[in-house]
Amino acid sequence: MNIYGITTEASFVLPDIRTSSIEQLLADTQTTKAAVFHFQQGEKGKLHHWVQSIRQHPHPRIYLMPLALVFDEEKPPASLQKQFDECISVTQLGHTSTTKSALFERISQWLERVPNLDTHSSDSSIPFKILRLMASRNKRLEPMLTPANTRGFVYPAVEPFFARNDDSSINSLDFLHKQQFVGREFFKRAHFCPTCESAFLNFIETCTDCGAENLKKEELIHHFKCGHVDNLSHFERNNLLICPKCDERLKHIGVDYDKPSIVYQCQQCTLQFQDPLLKVQCYTCESEASIDDVTVEDIYAYELSAIGLNAALYGLDALFTSILQTDLQLYSNREFKSFIHIEKARIARYKKSTSCVATIYFENLDSIFQRLGKRTEQLFKEISAVFKSVFRESDVISALNESVFVILMTETSEENANLALNRLKTAIQDLFAANLAEELSVGISTRVYGIDSSSDLNLMLENALKVKEE
Ligand SMILES: [Zn+2]
Ligand SMILES: [Zn+2]
Ligand SMILES: [Zn+2]
Repeated sequence: MNIYGITTEASFVLPDIRTSSIEQLLADTQTTKAAVFHFQQGEKGKLHHWVQSIRQHPHPRIYLMPLALVFDEEKPPASLQKQFDECISVTQLGHTSTTKSALFERISQWLERVPNLDTHSSDSSIPFKILRLMASRNKRLEPMLTPANTRGFVYPAVEPFFARNDDSSINSLDFLHKQQFVGREFFKRAHFCPTCESAFLNFIETCTDCGAENLKKEELIHHFKCGHVDNLSHFERNNLLICPKCDERLKHIGVDYDKPSIVYQCQQCTLQFQDPLLKVQCYTCESEASIDDVTVEDIYAYELSAIGLNAALYGLDALFTSILQTDLQLYSNREFKSFIHIEKARIARYKKSTSCVATIYFENLDSIFQRLGKRTEQLFKEISAVFKSVFRESDVISALNESVFVILMTETSEENANLALNRLKTAIQDLFAANLAEELSVGISTRVYGIDSSSDLNLMLENALKVKEE
């Protein structure tokens, strides 16, 4: 198997480009801009290992290197293809004098935008590397079903970042999602073993009485004329359907009879019933569980958010939410909702407290990122300090997304909440004015809702998000 290291990243022509070894490729951050691998059957393991050693390299020029796979006749397996940026057959390649790759070009352009790429050149955080891979390729990560891992699915493009075939990629993506660097979209709902989380489950129908698995499934027949209902087998005589009660022949379904349902008969204790007890057995750990105990989880596809795009360029620390996170502790949406429920119950019970929910929407944080670049971090630290001065430790803050925040202000009247928010607004607007050119206006919209027993949190949150579209 050959690797071709290439120096112009926009196109590749075989065999004009220079043959390289994996060691050369990993040692050189300056000349080699992309690599083309020639796939041969029986080399899957080796190829995967090489992609791993490239993606696991700390230098962004190496681990973000565009990779193409060329193959002769037989197509490489889909999971392998998806670890590469381009996959192309040798014949296809022969038909064109140059194989221009828009994607290769895009990746090299993106790399040029990364500040201090060669002076500061070691990325150790795997989630951050994943973020950069997604940003440099504008890539959406979709799961792929597979029997190769017990969870039953993988994200092939990020798999080479990890040394082992486990669920680390899911954890990393979950982390990025919690930090709001990637958005997610429902892909599939899946069932997992409650003991070991394996996706490989055998769903078994069992007897409601003795628990046996050996059940016979039969249709029920309802004879309209005499009203008799019985198992199909009791109607069958010499290839005809004869009613065992009135001996009349049944000819037409819908006219003479219908099939109202299905029954199960236990072959061990002969009990007959309509709804068998469903249980599962795990193929991986062999443990058995009731169907109600099976873990049901949603599997997602992931896409970069605006905040993630900037985090990929400037680093994870230079971001508003992560700054707020360190300075203030942001609660998750779920935690926030629980706090509101408790607060509602408390207010209903003691009838002497007033609390408010405030929502804050920053109109164009994205453009601030683009405008300020690395200075964004400093500005966000200052905004974070404003947040800290306005809100108290008993207030609960959560981010709905990268630009909408909700705050539970306990023991605060609507009037005082509005005063506090106005203070916040003025202070932040002053900060923006000091940092940005006047032509870039920064809108901050705020709203305050008093909490009582009839407050609808979901409606508040919805309204907070709606401000964006107005
Ligand atoms: Zn039974
Ligand atoms: Zn009958
Ligand atoms: Zn299991």
